[in-house]
Amino acid sequence: MKSIILMGECMVELRREGHDEIVQSFAGDVYNAGVYLKRCNPEIQVQLATQIGTDTLSEQMLTVFTDEGIIDDLVLQTPHRLPGLYWVNTDSEGERSFLYWRENAAARWQVEHYNDEYITQLKQVDIFFFSGISLAILQPEHRQRFWEVLRELKAAGVTIAFDPNYRPKLWASVADTKTQYDMAFSLCDIALPGVEDFAMLYDLTDFAAVEAFLAPYNIAEQVIKDGPNGVVVLLDAKRTFIPITAVKNVIDTTSAGDSFNGVYLGSRMNGESIDVAVAKAAKMAGKVIQYPGAIIPKSI
Ligand code: ADP
Repeated sequence: MKSIILMGECMVELRREGHDEIVQSFAGDVYNAGVYLKRCNPEIQVQLATQIGTDTLSEQMLTVFTDEGIIDDLVLQTPHRLPGLYWVNTDSEGERSFLYWRENAAARWQVEHYNDEYITQLKQVDIFFFSGISLAILQPEHRQRFWEVLRELKAAGVTIAFDPNYRPKLWASVADTKTQYDMAFSLCDIALPGVEDFAMLYDLTDFAAVEAFLAPYNIAEQVIKDGPNGVVVLLDAKRTFIPITAVKNVIDTTSAGDSFNGVYLGSRMNGESIDVAVAKAAKMAGKVIQYPGAIIPKSI
């Protein structure tokens, strides 16, 4: 059975619906990717590696993971901390913004609990996926340990997949981000960046510039996304441009990249070609952006 671990943070999401109803759900980039990967590929074993609390919301999170078919063996629980929380604000024009309470989220201390048994479990899978957000939330003093573990996984034959998903507010400085991303690009086998990440961080605004930046890292599979402007895949140095059909009625682009990543990786794990994988991933992402929230109902 094919297997993947997605490492990072899942948060409590709160948003208003209508005038006076508040809807609560759970979301976070790697979790979102895991949900869509599993929904499209039920035969793949999907595990989330994170840390939550032992509170009511954390317990509800575990129930939702199970409902989505996500295995929680690698979900650490600490009684001392709560999960992170965010509020989705929608203004009168429909523009969304976010307020976060995540500075003390349990997920930030997960690496502290990596022991031999945990690392042995991490080594069992085909792919270990993490993002720039997973990196940003780690305690700076735990980073070295994280990179050591990642090197161990790679040496054990685990494929390392990385999406830079740059969120400036989560980082102490741009220099710090660049140092950490350099490590990530050096170690990963599959990179799934968005051109937007590169525009914000490196001032590189098109496919060619991103490709040139990534070239020295010799990453076996590069999947560069740019919203409706298409996807460039470089697989073993062969370049393929795949156009995307723009969605007219975009409601909420949250989770577009996450759903794309999950479905793309699932499809590739099943041995499908990059064309099929991108087509399936773009179809799902195109659907996700026509509904509010990170996780759309299963029935859609
Ligand atoms: P990221 O969040 O990683 O920067 P993008 O914004 O590039 O991701 O979007 C990821 C994927 O979502 C795209 O590759 C595309 O398949 C889909 N997508 C995003 N915006 C649109 C759109 N307006 N119309 C159709 N598909 C879109």
